[in-house]
Amino acid sequence: MSENIERYFDQYGLSPKTRAFIAKEHGLFIGGEWSVGPERTDVIEPSTGEVLTTLTTGTVDDLDRAVAAARRQFDEGEWPRMKPLAREQLLLKLADALEANLDEFAEIESVDVGKSLQDAKDIDIQGTVDTLRYFAGWASKIGGRSAEASSMPGEYLAYTRKEPVGVIGVIVPWNFPLQTLAWKLGAALAVGCTVVVKPAELTSLSALRFAELAQEVGIPDGVINIVTGRGSVVGSALAAHKDIDKITFTGSTKTGLAVGHAALENWTRMTLELGGKSPVIVYSDVDIEQTVERVALGIFANSGQVCDAGSRAYIHESIYDEFIERLGAHVSSLAVKPGLDPDCFMGPLVSENQMRQVVDYIEIGIAEGARLVTGGPGTSETGFFVQPTVFADCDNDMRIVREEIFGPVLVCQKFSTEEEVVKLANDSDYGLAATIYSESINNVLRVAPQLKAGSVYVNAQSTIDPAMPFGGYKASGFGRDLGAEQLDFVTETKTVWVTIDA
Ligand code: NAD
Repeated sequence: MSENIERYFDQYGLSPKTRAFIAKEHGLFIGGEWSVGPERTDVIEPSTGEVLTTLTTGTVDDLDRAVAAARRQFDEGEWPRMKPLAREQLLLKLADALEANLDEFAEIESVDVGKSLQDAKDIDIQGTVDTLRYFAGWASKIGGRSAEASSMPGEYLAYTRKEPVGVIGVIVPWNFPLQTLAWKLGAALAVGCTVVVKPAELTSLSALRFAELAQEVGIPDGVINIVTGRGSVVGSALAAHKDIDKITFTGSTKTGLAVGHAALENWTRMTLELGGKSPVIVYSDVDIEQTVERVALGIFANSGQVCDAGSRAYIHESIYDEFIERLGAHVSSLAVKPGLDPDCFMGPLVSENQMRQVVDYIEIGIAEGARLVTGGPGTSETGFFVQPTVFADCDNDMRIVREEIFGPVLVCQKFSTEEEVVKLANDSDYGLAATIYSESINNVLRVAPQLKAGSVYVNAQSTIDPAMPFGGYKASGFGRDLGAEQLDFVTETKTVWVTIDA
Protein backbone atom coordinates (compact mmCIF):
# COMPACT_ATOMS: atom_id res chain seq x y z
CA MET A 1 0.00 0.00 0.00
CA SER A 2 1.43 3.40 -0.98
CA GLU A 3 2.40 6.13 1.49
CA ASN A 4 -0.37 8.37 0.16
CA ILE A 5 -3.00 5.75 0.84
CA GLU A 6 -1.56 5.12 4.34
CA ARG A 7 -1.72 8.86 4.96
CA TYR A 8 -5.31 8.99 3.71
CA PHE A 9 -6.29 6.11 6.01
CA ASP A 10 -4.46 7.67 8.97
CA GLN A 11 -6.10 11.05 8.41
CA TYR A 12 -9.59 9.57 8.73
CA GLY A 13 -8.77 6.79 11.19
CA LEU A 14 -9.56 3.76 9.04
CA SER A 15 -9.93 0.78 11.37
CA PRO A 16 -7.11 -1.80 11.75
CA LYS A 17 -9.61 -4.55 10.86
CA THR A 18 -10.38 -3.00 7.49
CA ARG A 19 -6.69 -2.36 6.80
CA ALA A 20 -5.87 -5.98 7.60
CA PHE A 21 -8.58 -7.26 5.29
CA ILE A 22 -7.51 -5.01 2.42
CA ALA A 23 -3.86 -6.10 2.79
CA LYS A 24 -4.73 -9.81 2.54
CA GLU A 25 -3.70 -11.93 -0.41
CA HIS A 26 -7.13 -12.11 -2.02
CA GLY A 27 -8.20 -15.32 -3.68
CA LEU A 28 -11.20 -17.05 -5.20
CA PHE A 29 -13.90 -18.76 -3.15
CA ILE A 30 -14.92 -22.05 -4.75
CA GLY A 31 -16.73 -24.95 -3.05
CA GLY A 32 -15.88 -23.52 0.39
CA GLU A 33 -12.13 -23.31 -0.37
CA TRP A 34 -10.01 -20.20 -0.87
CA SER A 35 -7.43 -20.32 -3.67
CA VAL A 36 -4.97 -17.56 -4.52
CA GLY A 37 -4.10 -17.39 -8.23
CA PRO A 38 -0.76 -16.30 -9.71
CA GLU A 39 -2.12 -13.67 -12.09
CA ARG A 40 -3.08 -10.49 -10.19
CA THR A 41 -5.22 -7.42 -10.98
CA ASP A 42 -4.50 -4.10 -9.26
CA VAL A 43 -7.29 -2.42 -7.31
CA ILE A 44 -7.03 1.37 -7.45
CA GLU A 45 -8.26 3.59 -4.61
CA PRO A 46 -10.28 6.39 -6.31
CA SER A 47 -9.60 9.29 -3.89
CA THR A 48 -5.81 8.94 -4.26
CA GLY A 49 -5.56 7.15 -7.63
CA GLU A 50 -3.06 4.67 -6.19
CA VAL A 51 -2.89 0.88 -5.84
CA LEU A 52 -4.89 -0.31 -2.85
CA THR A 53 -4.35 -4.07 -3.16
CA THR A 54 -4.48 -6.84 -5.77
CA LEU A 55 -7.04 -9.49 -6.67
CA THR A 56 -6.71 -12.92 -8.19
CA THR A 57 -7.42 -12.70 -11.92
CA GLY A 58 -9.68 -15.72 -12.32
CA THR A 59 -9.54 -17.93 -15.40
CA VAL A 60 -12.15 -19.88 -17.35
CA ASP A 61 -10.87 -23.04 -15.62
CA ASP A 62 -11.52 -21.41 -12.24
CA LEU A 63 -15.00 -20.53 -13.41
CA ASP A 64 -15.66 -24.12 -14.52
CA ARG A 65 -14.61 -25.32 -11.05
CA ALA A 66 -16.97 -22.83 -9.45
CA VAL A 67 -19.92 -23.85 -11.63
CA ALA A 68 -19.17 -27.52 -10.86
CA ALA A 69 -19.15 -26.77 -7.10
CA ALA A 70 -22.46 -24.88 -7.31
CA ARG A 71 -23.93 -27.69 -9.44
CA ARG A 72 -22.82 -30.36 -6.97
CA GLN A 73 -24.37 -28.49 -4.05
CA PHE A 74 -27.58 -27.92 -5.99
CA ASP A 75 -27.94 -31.49 -7.31
CA GLU A 76 -26.74 -33.42 -4.26
CA GLY A 77 -26.19 -31.01 -1.38
CA GLU A 78 -28.22 -29.99 1.62
CA TRP A 79 -29.08 -26.38 0.66
CA PRO A 80 -32.03 -26.95 -1.68
CA ARG A 81 -33.16 -29.91 0.45
CA MET A 82 -32.96 -28.11 3.79
CA LYS A 83 -36.25 -27.31 5.56
CA PRO A 84 -37.15 -23.74 4.53
CA LEU A 85 -37.11 -22.51 8.13
CA ALA A 86 -33.53 -23.75 8.55
CA ARG A 87 -32.50 -21.85 5.39
CA GLU A 88 -34.33 -18.79 6.70
CA GLN A 89 -32.44 -19.03 10.01
CA LEU A 90 -29.09 -19.20 8.24
CA LEU A 91 -29.86 -16.19 6.06
CA LEU A 92 -30.95 -14.24 9.14
CA LYS A 93 -27.70 -15.23 10.84
CA LEU A 94 -25.79 -13.94 7.82
CA ALA A 95 -27.70 -10.64 7.98
CA ASP A 96 -26.93 -10.37 11.72
CA ALA A 97 -23.23 -11.06 11.12
CA LEU A 98 -23.13 -8.40 8.44
CA GLU A 99 -24.84 -5.90 10.71
CA ALA A 100 -22.34 -6.67 13.47
CA ASN A 101 -19.55 -5.82 10.99
CA LEU A 102 -21.36 -2.90 9.35
CA ASP A 103 -18.62 -0.35 9.97
CA GLU A 104 -15.92 -2.56 8.47
CA PHE A 105 -17.98 -3.31 5.36
CA ALA A 106 -18.82 0.38 4.92
CA GLU A 107 -15.12 1.27 5.12
CA ILE A 108 -14.27 -1.39 2.53
CA GLU A 109 -16.96 -0.08 0.18
CA SER A 110 -15.95 3.55 0.72
CA VAL A 111 -12.29 3.04 -0.16
CA ASP A 112 -12.99 0.57 -2.99
CA VAL A 113 -15.64 2.68 -4.79
CA GLY A 114 -14.66 6.15 -3.52
CA LYS A 115 -18.13 6.73 -2.08
CA SER A 116 -19.10 8.67 1.06
CA LEU A 117 -18.58 6.50 4.15
CA GLN A 118 -21.91 7.64 5.59
CA ASP A 119 -23.75 6.65 2.39
CA ALA A 120 -21.92 3.32 2.40
CA LYS A 121 -23.23 2.70 5.93
CA ASP A 122 -26.78 3.96 5.46
CA ILE A 123 -27.43 2.82 1.91
CA ASP A 124 -25.04 0.08 0.81
CA ILE A 125 -24.54 -2.01 3.90
CA GLN A 126 -27.77 -1.32 5.76
CA GLY A 127 -29.55 -1.93 2.44
CA THR A 128 -27.77 -5.28 2.15
CA VAL A 129 -28.74 -6.31 5.69
CA ASP A 130 -32.37 -5.35 5.05
CA THR A 131 -32.50 -7.18 1.71
CA LEU A 132 -31.14 -10.38 3.25
CA ARG A 133 -33.66 -10.18 6.10
CA TYR A 134 -36.57 -9.48 3.77
CA PHE A 135 -35.80 -12.47 1.53
CA ALA A 136 -34.90 -14.77 4.44
CA GLY A 137 -38.56 -14.46 5.44
CA TRP A 138 -39.71 -15.66 2.01
CA ALA A 139 -37.84 -18.97 2.40
CA SER A 140 -40.67 -20.33 4.57
CA LYS A 141 -43.52 -18.39 2.93
CA ILE A 142 -43.25 -19.23 -0.75
CA GLY A 143 -45.58 -21.89 -2.12
CA GLY A 144 -47.71 -22.86 -5.09
CA ARG A 145 -51.49 -22.81 -5.45
CA SER A 146 -54.20 -25.30 -6.28
CA ALA A 147 -57.15 -24.78 -8.61
CA GLU A 148 -60.14 -26.45 -10.18
CA ALA A 149 -59.96 -27.07 -13.93
CA SER A 150 -61.96 -24.27 -15.51
CA SER A 151 -63.39 -26.07 -18.54
CA MET A 152 -61.91 -29.53 -19.05
CA PRO A 153 -64.43 -32.30 -18.41
CA GLY A 154 -63.62 -34.72 -15.57
CA GLU A 155 -62.33 -34.42 -12.00
CA TYR A 156 -58.81 -33.28 -11.21
CA LEU A 157 -56.60 -31.96 -8.50
CA ALA A 158 -54.28 -29.43 -10.12
CA TYR A 159 -51.59 -27.62 -8.19
CA THR A 160 -48.40 -25.68 -8.80
CA ARG A 161 -45.00 -26.02 -7.23
CA LYS A 162 -42.39 -23.26 -7.02
CA GLU A 163 -39.06 -25.01 -7.61
CA PRO A 164 -35.66 -23.30 -7.37
CA VAL A 165 -34.39 -22.56 -10.88
CA GLY A 166 -30.98 -24.14 -10.08
CA VAL A 167 -27.46 -22.75 -10.41
CA ILE A 168 -27.50 -18.99 -10.97
CA GLY A 169 -24.66 -17.00 -12.53
CA VAL A 170 -24.47 -13.53 -10.99
CA ILE A 171 -22.65 -10.63 -12.66
CA VAL A 172 -22.69 -7.26 -10.89
CA PRO A 173 -21.30 -3.74 -11.50
CA TRP A 174 -19.17 -1.48 -9.33
CA ASN A 175 -21.49 1.31 -8.20
CA PHE A 176 -23.20 -0.47 -5.25
CA PRO A 177 -21.11 -3.65 -5.16
CA LEU A 178 -22.44 -5.48 -2.10
CA GLN A 179 -25.96 -4.12 -2.22
CA THR A 180 -26.44 -5.18 -5.83
CA LEU A 181 -25.05 -8.59 -4.93
CA ALA A 182 -27.64 -8.86 -2.15
CA TRP A 183 -30.37 -7.91 -4.63
CA LYS A 184 -29.38 -11.06 -6.54
CA LEU A 185 -28.50 -13.39 -3.66
CA GLY A 186 -31.37 -12.67 -1.26
CA ALA A 187 -34.13 -14.20 -3.40
CA ALA A 188 -31.89 -16.84 -5.01
CA LEU A 189 -30.63 -18.28 -1.72
CA ALA A 190 -34.03 -18.06 0.01
CA VAL A 191 -35.61 -20.43 -2.53
CA GLY A 192 -32.66 -22.87 -2.45
CA CYS A 193 -30.59 -21.90 -5.52
CA THR A 194 -26.80 -21.91 -5.53
CA VAL A 195 -24.73 -19.13 -7.12
CA VAL A 196 -21.51 -18.35 -8.95
CA VAL A 197 -20.68 -14.67 -8.59
CA LYS A 198 -18.49 -12.55 -10.87
CA PRO A 199 -18.07 -9.20 -9.06
CA ALA A 200 -16.95 -6.10 -10.97
CA GLU A 201 -13.16 -6.15 -11.40
CA LEU A 202 -12.90 -2.62 -9.97
CA THR A 203 -14.75 -3.43 -6.73
CA SER A 204 -14.63 -7.08 -5.66
CA LEU A 205 -13.49 -6.64 -2.06
CA SER A 206 -16.83 -6.54 -0.24
CA ALA A 207 -18.00 -9.70 -2.05
CA LEU A 208 -14.89 -11.55 -0.84
CA ARG A 209 -15.37 -10.40 2.74
CA PHE A 210 -19.05 -11.35 2.49
CA ALA A 211 -18.05 -14.89 1.43
CA GLU A 212 -15.91 -15.14 4.57
CA LEU A 213 -18.92 -14.24 6.72
CA ALA A 214 -21.17 -16.69 4.86
CA GLN A 215 -18.69 -19.46 5.63
CA GLU A 216 -18.43 -18.38 9.27
CA VAL A 217 -22.20 -18.50 9.85
CA GLY A 218 -22.46 -21.96 8.28
CA ILE A 219 -23.83 -21.46 4.76
CA PRO A 220 -22.84 -24.84 3.22
CA ASP A 221 -19.87 -25.10 0.87
CA GLY A 222 -20.71 -24.57 -2.79
CA VAL A 223 -23.81 -22.43 -2.14
CA ILE A 224 -21.91 -19.18 -2.77
CA ASN A 225 -18.87 -19.23 -5.08
CA ILE A 226 -16.93 -16.11 -6.04
CA VAL A 227 -14.63 -15.81 -9.04
CA THR A 228 -12.92 -12.44 -9.44
CA GLY A 229 -11.55 -11.55 -12.85
CA ARG A 230 -12.17 -9.78 -16.12
CA GLY A 231 -15.67 -9.32 -17.47
CA SER A 232 -14.52 -10.19 -20.96
CA VAL A 233 -13.08 -13.52 -19.72
CA VAL A 234 -14.86 -14.77 -16.59
CA GLY A 235 -18.08 -12.77 -17.13
CA SER A 236 -18.58 -13.81 -20.73
CA ALA A 237 -17.70 -17.47 -19.93
CA LEU A 238 -20.28 -17.42 -17.13
CA ALA A 239 -23.02 -15.99 -19.37
CA ALA A 240 -22.27 -18.65 -22.01
CA HIS A 241 -21.85 -21.55 -19.55
CA LYS A 242 -23.90 -24.61 -20.44
CA ASP A 243 -24.21 -25.79 -16.84
CA ILE A 244 -25.92 -22.79 -15.28
CA ASP A 245 -29.71 -22.50 -15.29
CA LYS A 246 -30.02 -18.75 -15.03
CA ILE A 247 -27.92 -15.64 -15.39
CA THR A 248 -28.74 -12.47 -13.50
CA PHE A 249 -26.81 -9.45 -14.71
CA THR A 250 -26.67 -5.83 -13.63
CA GLY A 251 -24.56 -3.52 -15.73
CA SER A 252 -24.49 -1.56 -18.95
CA THR A 253 -27.00 -2.05 -21.74
CA LYS A 254 -24.21 -2.89 -24.20
CA THR A 255 -22.76 -5.71 -22.05
CA GLY A 256 -26.26 -6.83 -21.08
CA LEU A 257 -27.12 -7.40 -24.73
CA ALA A 258 -24.05 -9.63 -25.17
CA VAL A 259 -24.88 -11.52 -21.96
CA GLY A 260 -28.48 -11.99 -23.10
CA HIS A 261 -27.46 -13.33 -26.52
CA ALA A 262 -24.98 -15.78 -24.98
CA ALA A 263 -27.53 -16.98 -22.41
CA LEU A 264 -30.26 -17.57 -24.95
CA GLU A 265 -28.00 -19.95 -26.90
CA ASN A 266 -28.32 -22.42 -23.98
CA TRP A 267 -31.91 -21.51 -23.01
CA THR A 268 -30.45 -20.05 -19.83
CA ARG A 269 -33.07 -17.95 -18.03
CA MET A 270 -32.07 -14.33 -17.55
CA THR A 271 -32.67 -11.15 -15.60
CA LEU A 272 -31.00 -8.07 -17.07
CA GLU A 273 -30.89 -4.86 -15.02
CA LEU A 274 -29.35 -2.32 -17.39
CA GLY A 275 -28.70 1.36 -17.96
CA GLY A 276 -30.95 4.38 -17.62
CA LYS A 277 -31.44 8.02 -18.55
CA SER A 278 -34.27 8.80 -16.20
CA PRO A 279 -36.44 11.90 -16.68
CA VAL A 280 -37.51 14.24 -13.87
CA ILE A 281 -40.63 16.34 -14.44
CA VAL A 282 -40.96 19.50 -12.33
CA TYR A 283 -44.37 21.16 -12.35
CA SER A 284 -44.87 24.84 -11.57
CA ASP A 285 -46.65 24.19 -8.24
CA VAL A 286 -43.62 22.83 -6.34
CA ASP A 287 -41.70 24.27 -3.40
CA ILE A 288 -38.72 25.36 -5.49
CA GLU A 289 -36.01 25.25 -2.81
CA GLN A 290 -37.00 21.79 -1.56
CA THR A 291 -37.28 20.42 -5.10
CA VAL A 292 -33.88 21.84 -6.09
CA GLU A 293 -32.31 19.91 -3.19
CA ARG A 294 -34.11 16.69 -4.04
CA VAL A 295 -33.34 16.89 -7.76
CA ALA A 296 -29.65 17.49 -6.92
CA LEU A 297 -29.59 14.53 -4.53
CA GLY A 298 -31.27 12.41 -7.21
CA ILE A 299 -28.39 12.92 -9.65
CA PHE A 300 -25.29 13.74 -7.58
CA ALA A 301 -25.54 11.04 -4.88
CA ASN A 302 -22.83 8.39 -5.41
CA SER A 303 -21.27 10.86 -7.89
CA GLY A 304 -24.07 10.23 -10.37
CA GLN A 305 -23.03 6.59 -10.69
CA VAL A 306 -26.56 5.36 -10.07
CA CYS A 307 -28.57 3.45 -12.66
CA ASP A 308 -31.85 5.21 -11.89
CA ALA A 309 -30.30 8.67 -11.32
CA GLY A 310 -32.63 11.43 -12.50
CA SER A 311 -30.23 12.67 -15.14
CA ARG A 312 -32.51 14.78 -17.37
CA ALA A 313 -34.81 17.38 -15.84
CA TYR A 314 -37.83 18.97 -17.54
CA ILE A 315 -38.93 22.10 -15.69
CA HIS A 316 -42.11 24.06 -16.30
CA GLU A 317 -41.40 27.28 -18.21
CA SER A 318 -43.08 29.48 -15.58
CA ILE A 319 -40.43 28.61 -12.94
CA TYR A 320 -37.57 27.56 -15.25
CA ASP A 321 -35.25 30.58 -14.87
CA GLU A 322 -35.58 30.76 -11.09
CA PHE A 323 -35.22 26.99 -10.72
CA ILE A 324 -32.03 26.86 -12.83
CA GLU A 325 -30.50 29.78 -10.95
CA ARG A 326 -31.18 28.21 -7.54
CA LEU A 327 -30.09 24.77 -8.77
CA GLY A 328 -26.76 26.21 -9.97
CA ALA A 329 -26.16 27.93 -6.61
CA HIS A 330 -27.04 24.80 -4.64
CA VAL A 331 -24.98 22.40 -6.75
CA SER A 332 -21.89 24.60 -6.70
CA SER A 333 -22.02 24.47 -2.88
CA LEU A 334 -22.00 20.64 -2.65
CA ALA A 335 -18.97 19.23 -0.82
CA VAL A 336 -16.77 17.24 -3.20
CA LYS A 337 -14.34 15.37 -0.95
CA PRO A 338 -12.63 12.01 -0.44
CA GLY A 339 -15.08 9.28 0.52
CA LEU A 340 -13.77 8.88 4.10
CA ASP A 341 -14.11 12.61 4.86
CA PRO A 342 -17.17 13.01 7.13
CA ASP A 343 -18.18 16.13 5.16
CA CYS A 344 -18.16 14.29 1.83
CA PHE A 345 -21.38 14.74 -0.13
CA MET A 346 -19.86 13.62 -3.41
CA GLY A 347 -16.69 11.55 -3.71
CA PRO A 348 -14.53 10.83 -6.76
CA LEU A 349 -15.60 8.69 -9.71
CA VAL A 350 -14.69 5.04 -9.46
CA SER A 351 -11.81 5.03 -11.96
CA GLU A 352 -9.72 7.16 -14.26
CA ASN A 353 -11.54 5.64 -17.21
CA GLN A 354 -14.93 6.63 -15.78
CA MET A 355 -13.62 10.14 -15.04
CA ARG A 356 -12.38 10.56 -18.65
CA GLN A 357 -15.69 9.33 -20.00
CA VAL A 358 -17.63 11.86 -17.92
CA VAL A 359 -15.29 14.71 -18.89
CA ASP A 360 -15.69 13.77 -22.57
CA TYR A 361 -19.46 14.05 -22.19
CA ILE A 362 -19.15 17.47 -20.51
CA GLU A 363 -17.05 18.63 -23.46
CA ILE A 364 -19.59 17.18 -25.89
CA GLY A 365 -22.35 19.11 -24.07
CA ILE A 366 -20.44 22.37 -24.40
CA ALA A 367 -19.78 21.67 -28.10
CA GLU A 368 -23.46 20.84 -28.66
CA GLY A 369 -24.39 24.30 -27.40
CA ALA A 370 -25.93 23.43 -24.01
CA ARG A 371 -25.53 26.23 -21.41
CA LEU A 372 -23.07 25.29 -18.66
CA VAL A 373 -24.65 26.49 -15.39
CA THR A 374 -22.09 25.07 -12.97
CA GLY A 375 -19.24 22.53 -12.97
CA GLY A 376 -17.30 21.77 -16.13
CA PRO A 377 -14.66 19.45 -17.55
CA GLY A 378 -11.90 20.18 -14.98
CA THR A 379 -10.47 17.25 -13.01
CA SER A 380 -8.45 16.91 -9.82
CA GLU A 381 -4.66 16.46 -9.69
CA THR A 382 -5.04 13.59 -7.24
CA GLY A 383 -7.72 10.94 -7.57
CA PHE A 384 -10.67 10.88 -9.95
CA PHE A 385 -12.72 13.93 -8.97
CA VAL A 386 -14.91 16.00 -11.27
CA GLN A 387 -17.26 18.84 -10.33
CA PRO A 388 -21.02 18.26 -10.20
CA THR A 389 -22.17 19.73 -13.49
CA VAL A 390 -25.49 21.21 -14.63
CA PHE A 391 -26.41 22.07 -18.21
CA ALA A 392 -29.47 24.17 -19.09
CA ASP A 393 -31.30 24.87 -22.36
CA CYS A 394 -30.76 21.34 -23.67
CA ASP A 395 -32.91 19.52 -26.21
CA ASN A 396 -33.70 15.88 -26.80
CA ASP A 397 -31.50 15.67 -29.91
CA MET A 398 -28.31 16.27 -27.93
CA ARG A 399 -26.10 13.31 -27.10
CA ILE A 400 -25.85 14.46 -23.47
CA VAL A 401 -29.64 14.08 -23.26
CA ARG A 402 -29.90 10.78 -25.12
CA GLU A 403 -26.89 8.81 -23.79
CA GLU A 404 -26.26 7.49 -20.29
CA ILE A 405 -23.29 9.41 -18.83
CA PHE A 406 -23.24 7.56 -15.50
CA GLY A 407 -21.63 10.47 -13.71
CA PRO A 408 -22.51 13.77 -11.99
CA VAL A 409 -24.04 15.56 -14.97
CA LEU A 410 -27.62 16.89 -15.02
CA VAL A 411 -29.17 18.16 -18.26
CA CYS A 412 -32.17 20.50 -18.03
CA GLN A 413 -34.75 21.95 -20.39
CA LYS A 414 -38.10 23.72 -20.11
CA PHE A 415 -41.56 22.49 -21.09
CA SER A 416 -44.90 24.22 -21.47
CA THR A 417 -47.62 21.54 -21.61
CA GLU A 418 -48.13 18.17 -19.94
CA GLU A 419 -48.62 16.45 -23.29
CA GLU A 420 -45.27 17.82 -24.46
CA VAL A 421 -43.37 16.77 -21.32
CA VAL A 422 -44.73 13.22 -21.35
CA LYS A 423 -43.53 12.88 -24.95
CA LEU A 424 -40.10 14.30 -24.07
CA ALA A 425 -39.78 12.03 -21.01
CA ASN A 426 -40.65 8.91 -23.01
CA ASP A 427 -38.43 9.87 -25.95
CA SER A 428 -35.53 7.64 -24.83
CA ASP A 429 -34.19 4.17 -25.50
CA TYR A 430 -34.20 3.61 -21.74
CA GLY A 431 -37.06 3.10 -19.28
CA LEU A 432 -35.64 2.43 -15.83
CA ALA A 433 -37.21 5.19 -13.74
CA ALA A 434 -38.97 8.57 -13.90
CA THR A 435 -39.83 11.22 -11.31
CA ILE A 436 -42.71 13.65 -10.99
CA TYR A 437 -42.53 16.69 -8.70
CA SER A 438 -45.93 18.26 -8.11
CA GLU A 439 -48.23 19.16 -5.24
CA SER A 440 -51.25 18.10 -7.32
CA ILE A 441 -52.44 14.54 -6.88
CA ASN A 442 -54.24 14.89 -10.20
CA ASN A 443 -51.05 15.74 -12.07
CA VAL A 444 -49.36 12.72 -10.48
CA LEU A 445 -52.14 10.22 -11.11
CA ARG A 446 -52.67 11.43 -14.69
CA VAL A 447 -49.00 11.27 -15.66
CA ALA A 448 -47.61 8.23 -13.74
CA PRO A 449 -49.39 5.67 -15.96
CA GLN A 450 -48.18 7.42 -19.12
CA LEU A 451 -44.47 7.17 -18.24
CA LYS A 452 -42.64 4.21 -19.76
CA ALA A 453 -40.49 3.35 -16.75
CA GLY A 454 -40.15 0.49 -14.26
CA SER A 455 -40.27 2.86 -11.27
CA VAL A 456 -42.05 6.20 -10.99
CA TYR A 457 -40.98 8.29 -8.02
CA VAL A 458 -43.16 11.14 -6.76
CA ASN A 459 -41.69 14.10 -4.86
CA ALA A 460 -38.43 12.26 -4.07
CA GLN A 461 -36.05 10.05 -6.02
CA SER A 462 -34.57 6.54 -5.79
CA THR A 463 -36.85 5.55 -2.92
CA ILE A 464 -35.92 1.87 -2.96
CA ASP A 465 -36.92 -0.90 -0.56
CA PRO A 466 -36.50 -4.70 -0.66
CA ALA A 467 -40.30 -5.12 -0.56
CA MET A 468 -40.87 -3.35 -3.89
CA PRO A 469 -39.74 -4.60 -7.32
CA PHE A 470 -37.11 -2.77 -9.35
CA GLY A 471 -36.32 -3.11 -13.04
CA GLY A 472 -36.65 -1.56 -16.44
CA TYR A 473 -38.78 -1.08 -19.52
CA LYS A 474 -37.18 -1.02 -22.99
CA ALA A 475 -33.34 -1.05 -23.11
CA SER A 476 -33.19 -0.87 -19.30
CA GLY A 477 -33.67 -4.63 -19.13
CA PHE A 478 -35.76 -7.71 -18.50
CA GLY A 479 -37.22 -9.03 -15.26
CA ARG A 480 -37.36 -7.57 -11.77
CA ASP A 481 -35.15 -7.66 -8.70
CA LEU A 482 -36.64 -7.24 -5.20
CA GLY A 483 -40.18 -7.64 -3.96
CA ALA A 484 -42.29 -10.78 -4.11
CA GLU A 485 -42.08 -10.41 -7.91
CA GLN A 486 -38.41 -11.46 -7.87
CA LEU A 487 -39.36 -14.91 -6.59
CA ASP A 488 -40.83 -15.70 -10.01
CA PHE A 489 -37.41 -15.04 -11.55
CA VAL A 490 -35.52 -17.50 -9.30
CA THR A 491 -38.04 -20.32 -9.55
CA GLU A 492 -39.64 -22.48 -12.19
CA THR A 493 -43.38 -23.00 -11.82
CA LYS A 494 -44.42 -26.61 -12.28
CA THR A 495 -48.08 -27.57 -12.73
CA VAL A 496 -49.09 -31.02 -11.47
CA TRP A 497 -52.34 -32.58 -12.78
CA VAL A 498 -53.85 -35.46 -10.84
CA THR A 499 -56.79 -37.13 -12.60
CA ILE A 500 -59.44 -38.44 -10.20
CA ASP A 501 -61.26 -41.48 -11.57
CA ALA A 502 -64.97 -41.89 -10.82
P1 NAD B 1 -20.46 -3.14 -17.32
O1 NAD B 1 -21.55 -3.63 -18.20
O2 NAD B 1 -19.23 -2.65 -17.95
O3 NAD B 1 -20.01 -4.26 -16.29
C1 NAD B 1 -20.93 -4.92 -15.45
C2 NAD B 1 -20.37 -6.28 -15.10
O4 NAD B 1 -20.27 -7.04 -16.29
C3 NAD B 1 -18.97 -6.25 -14.48
O5 NAD B 1 -18.86 -7.25 -13.50
C4 NAD B 1 -18.09 -6.60 -15.66
O6 NAD B 1 -16.89 -7.23 -15.28
C5 NAD B 1 -18.96 -7.59 -16.40
N1 NAD B 1 -18.66 -7.72 -17.83
C6 NAD B 1 -17.95 -6.89 -18.63
N2 NAD B 1 -17.88 -7.39 -19.88
C7 NAD B 1 -18.56 -8.55 -19.87
C8 NAD B 1 -18.87 -9.51 -20.86
N3 NAD B 1 -18.47 -9.38 -22.12
N4 NAD B 1 -19.63 -10.57 -20.52
C9 NAD B 1 -20.09 -10.71 -19.26
N5 NAD B 1 -19.81 -9.84 -18.27
C10 NAD B 1 -19.07 -8.77 -18.57
O7 NAD B 1 -21.15 -2.04 -16.40
P2 NAD B 1 -20.43 -1.14 -15.29
O8 NAD B 1 -19.65 -0.10 -15.98
O9 NAD B 1 -19.76 -2.02 -14.29
O10 NAD B 1 -21.70 -0.51 -14.55
C11 NAD B 1 -22.34 0.61 -15.01
C12 NAD B 1 -23.60 0.24 -15.77
O11 NAD B 1 -24.45 -0.57 -14.96
C13 NAD B 1 -24.43 1.45 -16.12
O12 NAD B 1 -24.91 1.32 -17.44
C14 NAD B 1 -25.59 1.39 -15.13
O13 NAD B 1 -26.75 2.04 -15.53
C15 NAD B 1 -25.79 -0.08 -15.01
N6 NAD B 1 -26.48 -0.40 -13.76
C16 NAD B 1 -27.79 -0.81 -13.82
C17 NAD B 1 -28.50 -1.08 -12.66
C18 NAD B 1 -29.93 -1.55 -12.70
O14 NAD B 1 -30.41 -2.05 -11.69
N7 NAD B 1 -30.63 -1.42 -13.82
C19 NAD B 1 -27.87 -0.93 -11.41
C20 NAD B 1 -26.54 -0.50 -11.38
C21 NAD B 1 -25.86 -0.24 -12.57
